[in-house]
Amino acid sequence: PRLANQISAGEVVERPAAVAKELMENAIDAAARRIEVEVEQGGARLIKVRDDGTGIAEGDMARALSRHATSKIETLDDLEGVSSLGFRGEALASISAVSRLSLTSNALDDPRDGFRVVAEGRSMEARVTPAPHPRGTSVEVRDLFFNTPARRKFLRTEKTEFAHLEEAFRRQALSRYDVAWTLRHNRKTVHQLPPGDSAAARERRIASLLGKTFIEHARHIERQVGDLRLSGWVGLPTHSRAQADQQYFFVNGRVVRDRLVAHAVRQAYRDVLYGGRHPVFVLYLDVDPDVVDVNVHPTKHEVRFRDGRKVHDFLFSSLHHCLADTRP
Ligand code: ADP
Ligand code: MG
Repeated sequence: PRLANQISAGEVVERPAAVAKELMENAIDAAARRIEVEVEQGGARLIKVRDDGTGIAEGDMARALSRHATSKIETLDDLEGVSSLGFRGEALASISAVSRLSLTSNALDDPRDGFRVVAEGRSMEARVTPAPHPRGTSVEVRDLFFNTPARRKFLRTEKTEFAHLEEAFRRQALSRYDVAWTLRHNRKTVHQLPPGDSAAARERRIASLLGKTFIEHARHIERQVGDLRLSGWVGLPTHSRAQADQQYFFVNGRVVRDRLVAHAVRQAYRDVLYGGRHPVFVLYLDVDPDVVDVNVHPTKHEVRFRDGRKVHDFLFSSLHHCLADTRP
């Protein structure tokens, strides 16, 4: 029951950024190589995510919108080894309950194939109708909270909502360099990121997402000790326009906000640099999936390491070493 509560707890749909996150994660889970996000009015009017992933078979279309209809786990035991991002089977159902949602998908190679199912609030049109679509899936979420005025009232300005959505996009784009990403807002292209996994390609992507200044004043780190591997970029003190929010830490590809991690990073910076600087970094920690529990919380921004001390010391010493000879 504890596990069951954990996976059903938490509100999926709190604002447009949360919707976009779930849709992008579904696209990644479907092995998409290209993901396009299109937004109008900060996401309040439209959030559309189109991918070229596996698609959904006609017979599974309606089920995809029903609660706990995940295709990603069979039993709770599977949760132990879950590697997909979504596993609760409630995102699409929750989103469709508070929006006008249409799901168009094609699991076949012929672009003349494809089907669509639509839902408006709690009422779902039972029919699955033919709708041509290239292999992959498009989900359109219109008029978020149209039927829940209380929640709509909590939406902030278009600018603020889009800023949150763009941040969710950044995290996804920084977690999958092999995927081509596009973000458009009110018909203007905000980000267009070609795929590429080399260090140079990664740096180009980071520069276009976080600004050239960050990457120009960052130091590349790459260190492995036993089964712990750390790679990425840490900002240097010369990067005076460092922003507190430019802190990205991924564990096995998932973005994480974790106290143990934050502490190790802060300690390393404090030890090496003079004070008053915000640490800025894009870091990837890869560990054996057996020694980390990523399902501590349904939104999965927290992790629990089996040996926290070891991870802490590894992070601290790696960063300390990397920063030590950059002292101004
Ligand atoms: P979950 O991701 O937790 O399984 P969701 O509500 O997000 O639950 O999605 C429900 C189901 O719909 C998924 O398990 C998957 O089978 C299908 N689905 C959703 N989005 C996509 C997509 N972009 N491509 C392929 N299948 C999808
Ligand atoms: Mg999902």
